[in-house]
Formats: sequence, structure tokens, C-alpha cells
Amino acid sequence: MTVTVRKVGVIGSGQMGNGIAHVAALAGLDVVLSDISADRLKSAMATINGNLSRQVAKQHITEDARKAALGRIASTESFDGLAACDLVIETAVEKEEVKRKIFHDLCAVLKPEAIIASNTSSISITRLAAATDRPERFIGIHFMNPVPLMELVELIRGIATNDETFDAAKAFVGKLGKQVAVSEDFPAFIVNRILLPMINEAIYTLYEGVGNVEAIDAAMKLGAHHPMGPLELADFIGLDTCLSIMQVLHEGLADSKYRPCPLLVKYVEAGWLGRKTQRGFYDYRGDKPVPTR
Ligand code: NAD
Repeated sequence: MTVTVRKVGVIGSGQMGNGIAHVAALAGLDVVLSDISADRLKSAMATINGNLSRQVAKQHITEDARKAALGRIASTESFDGLAACDLVIETAVEKEEVKRKIFHDLCAVLKPEAIIASNTSSISITRLAAATDRPERFIGIHFMNPVPLMELVELIRGIATNDETFDAAKAFVGKLGKQVAVSEDFPAFIVNRILLPMINEAIYTLYEGVGNVEAIDAAMKLGAHHPMGPLELADFIGLDTCLSIMQVLHEGLADSKYRPCPLLVKYVEAGWLGRKTQRGFYDYRGDKPVPTR
């Protein structure tokens, strides 16, 4: 049975969730955005409005399109509001036990023909699918950050994902105006398998005193033409997410070359998670970011 996606649920209203809700609503789809935290939902709606307004100011979209997109997004703290969705994308924290519990609770209310997707950066799609009642209608739809600006979405089939689900996910990504890269279900897929070891190596470079934060970021921006330095990028992604991805690579591929840098672990233990907590490799509490080492 072919599923046409008209109504999309998004679980988790953090930086990825609000971005996915933004682009889906702008593409004309009805969106239900859910979170366990009412505060996060409130600030997600404010962020979406701010980002849409910026697009209006740049004349990328009209004021009417902004209003219509906002009007298409409903927010809820309960999964009941997701029952009628054709596709639900989970984008809560990168912790397998949290995601498994979400799928268990979601399946109890979601209509049987609906597709479930995870935006996980690294966790096995096959293993997450096994926590649902519909592994054949489960798929990885991995957006890049920031969602409204990045062109790519990775699609990852689990072992049981059927063709109808893959085709529906591909059509959904196309409707959002984004390009697809298909990845096999291996730890961290394609983009993060390559990107995160580079970020982890940059943190080792800092840890070993080869360079300080400013030197490392300047080196990669000016010397390799990267638009952001690796430490700046780590703060942007979230250091907790970076650590989780390195742990999945380390455990999943059983190779010591993926060992998370102890300094990354220390920053996460301190609750210095990057931009989202206003402190990471830079301190964002003042007028301009100041390196923390
Ligand atoms: P985030 O910390 O900004 O947001 C996570 C949100 O999930 C929070 O609002 C939190 O309240 C909510 N949440 C936690 N438990 C929940 C639950 N049980 N039910 C509903 N909501 C819950 O994280 P993020 O950066 O948006 O990342 C979310 C997911 O997207 C992760 O799986 C991450 O690996 C993936 N991802 C992140 C990036 C990135 O660059 N940050 C890129 C691609 C994919």
C-alpha cells in the first residue's frame, strides 16, 4: 500500500525537531510537533517563527507563506495528538533507551498504516525498528543541521524496511526540496562516519596541546576551506550528540580509532554541551564567542 504523507508528526522539538517542523509546514504539510517539555515546545515555536521571519526579510518566502506555515504547526505534550499522522519522525535525544521507549508508547496510539522514522545520527535503524510493531514501515530519515538551509537528507533502510516505505520517504524528502543520499545501515551512516572522527581528532589535537581552540578552528577554516572550524562545528552540533555518535562508532565498529576523546567526555560531564547550553569549546554568554581553552 502506497502511503502519501499529508500529516507529519515530529517527536522532540529541539534544534532538529523545530527545523523539520519548519520545512514540512513550509512545504504545505500539516505538522504536529511534540515534546515532553512545554518550555521546549514554546521556544521551538518562537524559533520557527524567528527563522521564517528571517526568510521573509531575505525575500525567500512571502509573509503569507510564513503565516500559513505557522498555522499548519500544532504542538502537543501528549502522543495522542500524533495518532492521525501518516509519518512520524522521532528526533529526541541521541539515547537508544529514550528512543525505544518513545516508539513503544507511540505504536500504542499511531494508526497501523503510518510510517515511523528516526532522525538518529548514528544508531542502528534495524535495531530501532525492532522496538516498534512495524519494522517494515520504519526507516531512517537523517536531516542535517540547520534543517532549513542544508540540502541533504540521508535515507537508511533497516533490514525489514519495505519498498513502499522507502518510496514514501523519498517522495517526502523531495517535497521538502531536498536531495537524498542512500546509506546502508552501518554506525553513523555516511556523513557522520566521516565528519565525527574529524571532529574527535580536532578535540584530541586540543587535548594534546598541539593547538588551542582558536588555532585549530582557524587552521581548518583557512587551511582546508571549511566554512566552520571543527570545534565551532562541534558546539553547533551539541557535544552530547558528538559523544553519543563517537560511542556508537566505537562500540559498533569495535575499532580503537573511534575512541571518544577524554576531553569531549569531560565537557559533556560538565554540562558544557555547546551553543545549546551557551558553553562548550566557546563561551557564548557574552557579545561574542570566547574560547574556553
Ligand atoms: P536537542 O537536545 O536540541 O533536542 C532534543 C529534544 O528532545 C529536546 O527538546 C527534548 O526535550 C526532547 N525529548 C527528550 N526526550 C523526549 C521524549 N521522551 N519525548 C519527546 N521529546 C523528548 O537535540 P537535537 O540536536 O535536536 O538532536 C535530536 C536528534 O537528531 C538526535 O537523535 C540527534 O542525533 C539527531 N541529529 C542531530 C543533529 C545535530 O547537528 N544536532 C543532526 C542530525 C541529526
